[in-house]
Amino acid sequence: MTTSTVPLRVIIYGRVSKAEKGKRAKSVDDQLAELRTWALDQGWTVVGERRDDGVSVSSYGGLKVRDGWEQVKVDIASGEVDAVLVWETSRASRDWMVSGEFANELIRHRVRLGIDERLLDLTRAEDKKAYFDGVTNAQYEADKISARTKRGLKTSRAAGRPHGTVAFGYRRIIDPETGKTVGRGEDPVTAPIFRAIVADLLNRRPAEAIARELNERGIRTAAGNTWTGGNVSRMVKRPVYVGKRVHAGVALDVETTWPALISLADHQALVEMYGSDARDHWRTSKVVNSLGTGVFHCGAQGCDGTVRIVTPPKTRRDRTKRYQCRRCYKGWLPQPAVDELIDDLMIARLSRPDVAEILAADAEADADVQAAKDEVARLKLYVDELRESAHRGDLSVADYASMAKRANADIERLAKAARPRHLPPALADLVEPGVDIRTAWPALPIADRRVIVDSLISVELEPRGRGGHEFGPDDVTVAWKTTA
Ligand SMILES: [Zn+2]
Repeated sequence: MTTSTVPLRVIIYGRVSKAEKGKRAKSVDDQLAELRTWALDQGWTVVGERRDDGVSVSSYGGLKVRDGWEQVKVDIASGEVDAVLVWETSRASRDWMVSGEFANELIRHRVRLGIDERLLDLTRAEDKKAYFDGVTNAQYEADKISARTKRGLKTSRAAGRPHGTVAFGYRRIIDPETGKTVGRGEDPVTAPIFRAIVADLLNRRPAEAIARELNERGIRTAAGNTWTGGNVSRMVKRPVYVGKRVHAGVALDVETTWPALISLADHQALVEMYGSDARDHWRTSKVVNSLGTGVFHCGAQGCDGTVRIVTPPKTRRDRTKRYQCRRCYKGWLPQPAVDELIDDLMIARLSRPDVAEILAADAEADADVQAAKDEVARLKLYVDELRESAHRGDLSVADYASMAKRANADIERLAKAARPRHLPPALADLVEPGVDIRTAWPALPIADRRVIVDSLISVELEPRGRGGHEFGPDDVTVAWKTTA
């Protein structure tokens, strides 16, 4: 690959974490400049520059998704890159699992890693060792910093006592003798409001509308702020409301000392509704006027971004709105034509006499879905335990990486079977006997149509370049999520 006169194609990547910002850390611009010089000296071709500013990747920063980093992963898989250059090991990642996965990706796609002025080939044992030694050192530094904070929290966690701020719906219980906080209890004022919010959300009332109403009634968040659709949907997902402690993103099954405000089943339904950023569309009914924004997916290879609406600039003759991928920006399809196609498809499917069976079959499948979900949850805990063992040194990095990889492959496979299958109430209304779908469907509010479309099908839009062919049904791939 690198033997001939063909220059190495490299991607350079720079990052500064939030914690480092304002300190003496090298700026992203400086990191990239240094990497660019290195590449130039070696005669390599820089085919892309990726960056992340101010987003922490340490395990203690909560494993935030970094756009530049995500892009690097896409680059590695693209087959169009021979090496990735980073400025130092902690730029790649301090987290062992992430590092293990990253190493596997590099090996799988035969991409080299440039680090500390060395070009590593991770298929070679000594280079692999050099890389993981670097990760171990960076991890050790991060562990030392967080050890003290963790020690303090551990005691109260094991005792099932809450820490941090008091969530909306709860209040502090004060010991009258000592005046100290001894726990949490239901707040007589805000707990009923919280339950009403949950009921509204489960009935598919947009979070945006709920936030508006709370603000109008003068109700404030636990932190004393006004509400947004985002903090309504984030709030109800918190495990604290089912009486669970959360540590490093994993709910702990310790006996807690405060009451649950929401049933496990309702909580699970809400987590599914608002489970990922891709599903954020539940809360934006006010502004959305297309079927596919945030719902339909990009069909470009290696990309699973959702699409957004783009209006062509005034200078264009054709100003038809388009769907464009939010992540890779590749291609576009005309929004009205796509929506018309999907509307027709829904009408055709929902007019079929067996439509009531969709709902019945779905209820039956619920048991399987639950089993898959339980297994996913169990595997996630297992991976977490592996990571803990690796941190403690009870498990070698190599063993950890291979065990975690296997478990993650299972998680990925099972997660598909555990896909949410909650069919929206609006759909049940639509399949009542005597309802004429042909007139009822177009009359439905767009928010309801989006919810129904998303519960029944997944839609991928094939990328199309400028001045390409005419739009046709082949540009849209539809997969049914229902069993029937
Ligand atoms: Zn894309």
